[in-house]
Amino acid sequence: SSQDRFVSSWIASWVERVLAEEPALTELDRRAGDGDFGTNMVSALEQLDLASIRETYSAQTVFEAVSEAYLGHAGGTSGALFGIWFRQFYTCLESVDLESITAAARGGLDTITDLGGARIGDKTMVDAIAPAVEALEAATDLEKGLRDAAAAATAGAQATEQLTANRGRASYVGDAARGVVDPGALVMAWFFEAASEAR
Ligand code: ADP
Ligand code: MG
Ligand code: MG
Repeated sequence: SSQDRFVSSWIASWVERVLAEEPALTELDRRAGDGDFGTNMVSALEQLDLASIRETYSAQTVFEAVSEAYLGHAGGTSGALFGIWFRQFYTCLESVDLESITAAARGGLDTITDLGGARIGDKTMVDAIAPAVEALEAATDLEKGLRDAAAAATAGAQATEQLTANRGRASYVGDAARGVVDPGALVMAWFFEAASEAR
């Protein structure tokens, strides 16, 4: 269906971007963390069959495959948190519309904050996701909702550069984290950007 094609193009282009940016992501986590974020992303995402995602999978199969890849193959905090993020999308997304994408993103945000305890301003992926969820909840049509969510997530990720971290390993380096964008927030901003660009 056209909905399946939308999700396939969304997720395949996001996966390709994350894989291509692995060195930059590693560098960010090296400067404010333990340097394994890029490796953790690749360990999960290299499990995926991108051709099947683009050509044959249904929307729910795509989200299920990405969730399983993270939960089964990535280490680190990000493996668990991205795994539960994508699990919300395959359990909530009955049809690909504004309501179900908003519900999935809200469910993902709530699960991540329940598990990880991070709030806005702690310099984590929550700084990208929370404003995106707010933008989706304020939207009245899908295209504009995704565009606003992408802009909000990107601004939230960019704003992590000025912060010191209160959660995760970046909190161990104190002031040295200032000047470093949080890589988890960046990858979540790319998730919403890829959604707003998918057709
Ligand atoms: P680890 O810290 O176990 O090495 P990764 O390097 O794989 O984990 O992931 C780091 C990313 O995880 C950070 O960039 C941040 O966005 C996210 N993160 C860390 N702790 C939390 C938390 N408590 N809640 C939400 N996100 C978190
Ligand atoms: Mg790390
Ligand atoms: Mg680690």
